[in-house]
Amino acid sequence: MTTQKAFDYIIQEYFEAKKKHPTFPHRFGRQLSILIEEVGEVAKEINEWSNQPWDSDDKELEQKLITELAQTGAVIVRMLEDMNKCC
Ligand SMILES: [Mg+2]
Repeated sequence: MTTQKAFDYIIQEYFEAKKKHPTFPHRFGRQLSILIEEVGEVAKEINEWSNQPWDSDDKELEQKLITELAQTGAVIVRMLEDMNKCC
């Protein structure tokens, strides 16, 4: 995957997250819990993928992992945006 494509995925998830959750908590602790939830979802998808045969070419699992990674990136962007509002 190219760097541009990776950023495209993150941007897409960022705007979907802003639509679904227009407000973002200002407290670092709450933001961190959202980030960790997303990282946990990445781990779950990696585990799902790891349970497949080594030569598996499961595009659905690959897309789920990409989505979770992009959602994690989107949370980080929202945290960065919120730096001046956060406590
Ligand atoms: Mg997720």
